[in-house]
Amino acid sequence: MPAESNSSVDAIVIGAGFGGLYAVHKLRDELGLTVRGFDLAGGPGGTWWWNRYPGARCDIESIHYSYSFSDEIQREWEWSERYPAQPEILSYLEFCADKLDVRKEFTFNKRVTSTVWDDTDKTWTVTTEDGETCTARFVIAATGNVNIPKLGKEFPGLEEFAGEVYASSRWPHEGVDLTGKRVGVIGTGSTGIQIIPVIAQQAAHLTVFQRTPNYAVPLGNKPVEPPQRRWNAENWRELRAHSRDRLLGAPYENPEPSALAVDPDERRARFDELWRQGGFQFLTSSYGDLLTDERANDTAAEYVRERIRETVKDPKTAELLCPTDHPYGTKRPALETDYFLTYNRDNVELVDVRSAPIEQVTATSVRTTDREYELDVIVLATGFDAITGSLLNLGFVGRDGVALADRWADGPKTYLGISVSGFPNLFTITGPQSAVALYNNPLAIEDHVDFAAAAIKRVLDSGAATIETNEEAERAWGKEVEGILNRTLLPKANSWYMGANVPGKPRATYVFAGGAPLYRAMCADVMARDFAGFSIGDAPAPGIPPMVQLDPAVAMVVGAMLQQDMKPLEECTLEETREAIEGFALLQDPIPSSVRVVETSYRGPADERPARIYLPEGAESTGSLPVIVYFHGGGFVAGSIDACARPCGNLAAELGAIVVTPSYRLAPEAPFPAATDDTYAALCWVADTIAEHGGDPARIVVMGESAGGQLAAVAAQRARDENGPELLAQVLLYPTIDAEADTASRVEYAAGPVISADAARGMWAGYLGETSPASSVLASPARAESLAGLPPALVVSCECDPLRDEGEDYGRALEAAGVPTRVVRLEGLVHGVYNMSAYVPRVAEFNRYVAEFLQPLTSRTAVGV
Ligand code: NAP
Repeated sequence: MPAESNSSVDAIVIGAGFGGLYAVHKLRDELGLTVRGFDLAGGPGGTWWWNRYPGARCDIESIHYSYSFSDEIQREWEWSERYPAQPEILSYLEFCADKLDVRKEFTFNKRVTSTVWDDTDKTWTVTTEDGETCTARFVIAATGNVNIPKLGKEFPGLEEFAGEVYASSRWPHEGVDLTGKRVGVIGTGSTGIQIIPVIAQQAAHLTVFQRTPNYAVPLGNKPVEPPQRRWNAENWRELRAHSRDRLLGAPYENPEPSALAVDPDERRARFDELWRQGGFQFLTSSYGDLLTDERANDTAAEYVRERIRETVKDPKTAELLCPTDHPYGTKRPALETDYFLTYNRDNVELVDVRSAPIEQVTATSVRTTDREYELDVIVLATGFDAITGSLLNLGFVGRDGVALADRWADGPKTYLGISVSGFPNLFTITGPQSAVALYNNPLAIEDHVDFAAAAIKRVLDSGAATIETNEEAERAWGKEVEGILNRTLLPKANSWYMGANVPGKPRATYVFAGGAPLYRAMCADVMARDFAGFSIGDAPAPGIPPMVQLDPAVAMVVGAMLQQDMKPLEECTLEETREAIEGFALLQDPIPSSVRVVETSYRGPADERPARIYLPEGAESTGSLPVIVYFHGGGFVAGSIDACARPCGNLAAELGAIVVTPSYRLAPEAPFPAATDDTYAALCWVADTIAEHGGDPARIVVMGESAGGQLAAVAAQRARDENGPELLAQVLLYPTIDAEADTASRVEYAAGPVISADAARGMWAGYLGETSPASSVLASPARAESLAGLPPALVVSCECDPLRDEGEDYGRALEAAGVPTRVVRLEGLVHGVYNMSAYVPRVAEFNRYVAEFLQPLTSRTAVGV
């Protein structure tokens, strides 16, 4: 389309890389909108149009680093190498632009200088450097994350240099002949690591100016042979399956949970294997705690250092190349081809500009604080004003004349990394605080464009003019993203992930570090709730969705679960459900060694049943300790005294109480009321026998988690009604109280996370069977004729739990009946979290509340009140 000096369309797309090309196609061909695109580059390709430096190559496999939305493109395009080089990716994107016929919507060689919102017309006006304007209701900023190069502003005198200066990302299209020249490369990030081995082969002499040594793992590139190419073309669906369910958005094998849980030989063998294989799998498929546990990370970091020392002959140079100031993977992991070997060449010299920084560039040299290096060519591989730089470069001014640069003066504030309050109808594709840095970009981009298109369609269908997020949603998102980031080791590096590579740029939360599956689940939750956190027109925004309210540590656990291809509980067979519940043991802290565990048994109504007693230090000698009879959860159909062993051991240690866990018969093999009959019998047995272990039968507390909470509540009622043991208290952790509960939380958190309302219903059905009445008080203790005279109650509920309200309602009913009751709701936590102590620090809050609640009761009894 010929450029008009003043045009008006439905949507403007800025950028013609993976994001912009797909966005134009999506909006034009699927939504039927008129679209114009702008790009400063001379053609399609985005980052691959600019980055033509020697050695430029993608380090995600070609088959994964490509569009997934078009069957035709997938079938027709054949990649020639495992990892594609820049010219091939550029050709691919040109092919896609032609295939989608989107070139004609773009105006190339156009620099956008301002993008301003008009709140009267509800439109954006984009102005380009040459004065052209274009207005549109919607703007898609698809400008990428690493495209505003630093260009050597930090090197005084660079403009005086009489030789040639090249920035890696602005490499001349005709190439540069470096034969016979003295070349200096500044920078050893992903770019430096690629460019250095290639330049070393051409230049007479290469000086590498390194400020921070970088970890690099072999790339393992190789050609894709014709039979494989044909196979790929036919089987791309299989090849790409699961990509979006894995941390990085590529279908890499899941890692073992912890590098510290295996012996050093096994660990080394695993690292060896992945090193030989090459690629990102060294990080993603080795051990799951490399980015969260510094000791685990050290094992990988030391392995890489060993390989560097093995490869580089000169020990001094090898030592200089060994990274020690940041954990492995906390800067964007680099992949290398002959990088470390290059330092064995006679024409290559490594200069440490950490100990002696560059202080001046002269007409002929780079001068550090301790020496001068004569050069003919300087190559800047010094990185980018990443993530926010390209957006701030577009001169955004939103509602009320507020500039984006001012709103983000202290760092980016976004919702989902795709929307900014005060900037209606603007979508930032893989923007700040999205999964950008840790999610295979073409797929991340498709997700964002799809999200933006769905949002635009929603606005258009509603007849409203705008969609816009708000500051509350931004705050919630910022808190979530920051919380997740701080659960990782990423803040330990001065990287572009942290905004720490550009002098003066605020160190802030720029990246969502929870991985692709978690990020996608959060966005899906927003969409499923009619764009929760966004206002459409003047309608108030639906509240922040549960996935965005999760405690960050819980979010990480949920993210890890999503990567395991686990079926939702409601779709599991009985065996799978039981296996899943037992699996929670992997998420728990070990039992403190001070706790002694006694295996025993009790006589239940049907059989002799195993039970376990946890004795805190000195229990038998102290005598007369309070006793907690703890019933495990598992929806009456799963769970065991093994699955709750660690929480119970910790409970005993932290409260200084004796904890007894009886097993009980599970449904459906032993349906209702078997579980309640067993647990009540166990309670009576404890009252009769616990003195033998130093327990005080006058100070017994019943406690349970989830279905165990229901069993505890029922046991308390039976003890009252059947002249059973006198109880000191009942502690109900997120109990399921009523099979037929019809509460707001069952609707709001119907899909979970962790447990869905359907899964809960399925478990109840398994327990009650076909004939048992849900209304029986043994099934639904809330329906008891009277709740008066029951022991004091503590109900701890979790905010993001479908079963939250029924537990809280029961607590309130107890209180109304005159039972001293405390109801505590833990924000951001989920059903089952009591069993996740190794990964969720806030699990400690449960036992703190229990201790706080029981303390006055136990001490009052102890002094005989
Ligand atoms: P980068 O990772 O930011 O690395 C820049 C390098 O320049 C670092 O070694 C940095 O040292 C050094 N540097 C910056 N300012 C300096 C100064 N004033 N004095 C001395 N040294 C200085 O940038 P990049 O290598 O261009 O990579 C950026 C991103 O682009 C990558 O992380 C990746 O996402 C993408 N990329 C991908 C590929 C690929 O797919 N294979 C290839 C290239 C780039 P410090 O570490 O001390 O700051």
